[in-house]
Amino acid sequence: MIPYGRQSISQDDIDAVVSVLQSDFLTQGPQVPAFEKAVSDYVGAKHALAVNSATSALHIACLALGLREGDRLWTTPVTFVASANCGLYCGAQVDFVDIDPKTYNLCPLALESKLEHAKQAGTLPKVLVAVHLCGQPCDMAAISRLAVKYGFKVIEDASHAIGGKYKDDFIGRGRYSDITVFSFHPVKIITTAEGGMALTNCDQLAERMALLRSHGITRDAALMTQKPDGPWYYQQIDLGYNYRMTELQAALGVSQMTRLGDFISRRHELAAVYNQELVSLPITLPWQHPDGYSGLHLYVIRLELDKLNKSHVEVFEELRERGLGVNLHYIPVHLQPYYQDLGFNPGDFPLAERYYREAISIPMFHGMTDDEQACVIEILREVLSA
Ligand SMILES: *Cc1c(COP(=O)(O)O)cnc(C)c1O
Repeated sequence: MIPYGRQSISQDDIDAVVSVLQSDFLTQGPQVPAFEKAVSDYVGAKHALAVNSATSALHIACLALGLREGDRLWTTPVTFVASANCGLYCGAQVDFVDIDPKTYNLCPLALESKLEHAKQAGTLPKVLVAVHLCGQPCDMAAISRLAVKYGFKVIEDASHAIGGKYKDDFIGRGRYSDITVFSFHPVKIITTAEGGMALTNCDQLAERMALLRSHGITRDAALMTQKPDGPWYYQQIDLGYNYRMTELQAALGVSQMTRLGDFISRRHELAAVYNQELVSLPITLPWQHPDGYSGLHLYVIRLELDKLNKSHVEVFEELRERGLGVNLHYIPVHLQPYYQDLGFNPGDFPLAERYYREAISIPMFHGMTDDEQACVIEILREVLSA
């Protein structure tokens, strides 16, 4: 089976993890700050906080932005459930904005018209989670203009997008948002097994997120309500969590960061071959907005079903039977039973639902060989021309 995505682990990665196992610190040592510095230096953000998943990063990002019961969080329906669930964790209401049919990202025009209605109704969101689907950045300039006009905060869910660029900046630079989140799950661009990071240029947000990551506990006397009782003293000044990343994960992250540029350029090479070799098949290939340089976490094709004598599920099953580990990113979040119970219905976001009826993620990962790619192309040609 050729999977749709797979981690790339080098001997250097293994050595880095082993040397942590032989060191004094398995957690709360020097590797986590080193990983944070490697990522923040690379993307040009002031602060970076490593945590145990992107889901945790989204949660503390929402809390730091003050999201709570009675507030609203909006995001795209075409994302992993975590981009929306972070709002529910905080007791906020979640709603969605339909996608742009070309980029498959949240559509800024749909956002503007929904904001205008929400303004009339007094139901404006406090937080918008902009998801860079497949690594392609959202139209951040438009989103940040609307954020200023309507007074909401912006989190970039860049789980797919580390190493990519928006205009001249690396994603994570944060010029157009309050907080950016990366995921280091093994299918993503770099991995720490499980892991995530929240980046910001705001000192207060960084301080809040650092507290929330570790039980709401501080050792900084300046933040305490009283003088420390002694050198052992720490104080819990908020209700936080244990969302810390381990030293083993961070060492793997530091090592993976040295190959980020290679990872992205190999993905671009593979995508260029797909773009060329699949162009005559009855499918829509991914379209890239000229303002972005995608991290290319995923290569999603859309079936032109009116030109095929097979259904979406038939094509998907045939590809799996022929040994391609294809996948579908994503089932629109509002179609999940949990969200249907919250009041969402099929038909609420028609462009997202149409995308779901046509999309298939085909194999693309750093270690994929030219032969493996040729095999994928051959199978796609056979399955889609019959
Ligand atoms: C993978 C992913 C997440 C969650 O990442 P974890 O690190 O597994 O918690 C969130 N949002 C998107 C868009 C993702 O793809």
